Amino acid sequence: MTEMAAGKFIRVGFGTDLHRLVPGNGLRLGGISIPCAFSPVAVSDGDALIHALVDAVLGAAGLGDIGEHFPESAVSPGQDSRPMLAYAMRLAAEKGWSAANADCVVDLEAVKLGPWKTRIRESLAGILGLAVEQVNVKAKTAEGLGPIGESRAVAAQAVVLLVRGRGDE
Ligand code: MG
Repeated sequence: MTEMAAGKFIRVGFGTDLHRLVPGNGLRLGGISIPCAFSPVAVSDGDALIHALVDAVLGAAGLGDIGEHFPESAVSPGQDSRPMLAYAMRLAAEKGWSAANADCVVDLEAVKLGPWKTRIRESLAGILGLAVEQVNVKAKTAEGLGPIGESRAVAAQAVVLLVRGRGDE
């Protein structure tokens, strides 16, 4: 238990992200293109869910944050964010970590995510090296209030649990 408390075998990480929305023709969430009347303002593809997960993985592994690994100067317009998460997982794997589960919340008023949740979970599970049931995605609206409620922003939060076995030391 002492070793467990020291974070030797399990680590939790937390990440958040937010992108401004403007009128457009769709957005990316979890690596899936979702048609809607808005698009994110972003240097990359503006995938807030992937970006939150990148920070969660980096955080759990003690590897800093997404801005340190992917400064804006190194990101091209519309760039697919999925390789960023794959990169974070590779860095974690180099330290012996693998993901045990991820739980995510997307704050979005502009489109109902219900029909898209399974595809988003499948997309994320593939990158995280997990089964679909180990990746949970929850969708929240803001009851018309504030930037989320007025569809001026999309936000996401994610927690990821990383684990490693005693044989990985
Ligand atoms: Mg972002």
